[in-house]
Amino acid sequence: MIRHIKSAQASIEEGGTDSAVTKAVEGLLAKVKNGGDKAVRELSIQFDKLDRESYRLSKEEIDRSINSLTRREREDLDFAQDQVRKFAEAQKATLTDLEVETLPGVILGHRNVPIQNVGCYVPGGKYPLLASAHMTVLTARVAGCERVITCAPPFQGWISEKIVAAQALAGADEIYCLGGVQAIAAMAYGTETIAPVDMLAGPGNAYVAEAKRLLFGKVGIDLFAGPTETLVIADDSADGELVATDLLGQAEHGVNSPAVLITNSEKLARDTLTEIDRLLKILPTAAIAAKAWEDFGEIILCDTIDEMVAEGDRLASEHVQILTRDPDYFLNSMRNYGALFLGARTNVSFGDKVIGTNHTLPTNRAARYTGGLWVGKFLKTCTYQRIETDEASALIGQYGSRLCLMEGFAGHAEQSNIRVRRYGRKNVGY
Ligand code: NAD
Repeated sequence: MIRHIKSAQASIEEGGTDSAVTKAVEGLLAKVKNGGDKAVRELSIQFDKLDRESYRLSKEEIDRSINSLTRREREDLDFAQDQVRKFAEAQKATLTDLEVETLPGVILGHRNVPIQNVGCYVPGGKYPLLASAHMTVLTARVAGCERVITCAPPFQGWISEKIVAAQALAGADEIYCLGGVQAIAAMAYGTETIAPVDMLAGPGNAYVAEAKRLLFGKVGIDLFAGPTETLVIADDSADGELVATDLLGQAEHGVNSPAVLITNSEKLARDTLTEIDRLLKILPTAAIAAKAWEDFGEIILCDTIDEMVAEGDRLASEHVQILTRDPDYFLNSMRNYGALFLGARTNVSFGDKVIGTNHTLPTNRAARYTGGLWVGKFLKTCTYQRIETDEASALIGQYGSRLCLMEGFAGHAEQSNIRVRRYGRKNVGY
């Protein structure tokens, strides 16, 4: 039986953001579509108090940002980017092109073709999320995309130098100090000064995520990666301090960031509540985390491990931290999650910042149908076919002609018929 030790006070509309956000974003997208650079500037002034002739960073500004890093910071950034690159390259190696002979003389294949123009969003309203630069730009680079541009909002007046350095070191071709919907719209529609992209990638707040969602079709998008969520699944082998730390560590992302514990131990549930109260008195970002915990925090008590798996799958959370005796049981049983963090030695912040798996992950239950960003999202798997013998062309043509007519497609059927006549030197048999 499942019961709540703590319930959420608020909820996020499933499958999208709330309708007020949708309405606002639609209006902003239309402005940029019709107004180009002028509209982008107006919106930057309105939302980010940033008035510039150009929002693109010059080579001198980029070099200055890289040079402003301390030696320690540079080593740390290089370390994180090396880990992301290594994993992305290993994943890319699994994506081999394919060519197979399915019938004598019939050759079918696919090639993984990099998307040419990619626009990466690096969030930076509340925190300068420089890790998103490795996750998006670097991954697109490993995929082989030709042009990779990035936008990040101003942070305390102007784009964070650390974000610029991370974007440049990851291999960005153009860097813009633009945030929110104006950034997403400028990249998708293009403006007088920004050439449009074919695909948008990267996480962001509810406005950014909704803008990407609404633009899908005009451009490709990686996935719906909105406000962060975390789920901890723990049994009585875990302790309240660790669970509380892992919940609040993600709740600090924003006041709309759900943090949920699923456990089969009532003692752990009570200990976690006590520890959360204690930590909220000392955490520097407690104001945000406390509000997120109050509104969206939940503790769900289950009787069995399989109930815990089922509840976890129902929530389909972005991050799922497993603190149980047998974490691999969840690896083998769970189906709906953005990323799993198995055992106490690792945690979500390792994945967010440094370990090498991608931190751009599905939110709002999108994990039911997609995993996170990875090198494969920047590649199109495009098929091709070739027929190497007359006999094979005539054979496929016989079937093809009859199947086309079952659908009423006379023109399609004739494409088959002419091949049966030319290469098979006969007519289609009915
Ligand atoms: P952000 O860069 O996403 O958004 C800042 C921009 O939002 C501003 O530049 C501004 O132009 C725009 N904006 C703010 N208020 C607005 C309004 N009322 N109307 C229209 N536009 C408005 O930065 P953020 O706000 O700090 O959010 C980052 C988000 O990214 C967080 O919610 C975090 O949880 C999420 N995130 C998600 C993932 C993931 O993979 N799902 C990963 C990392 C971060």
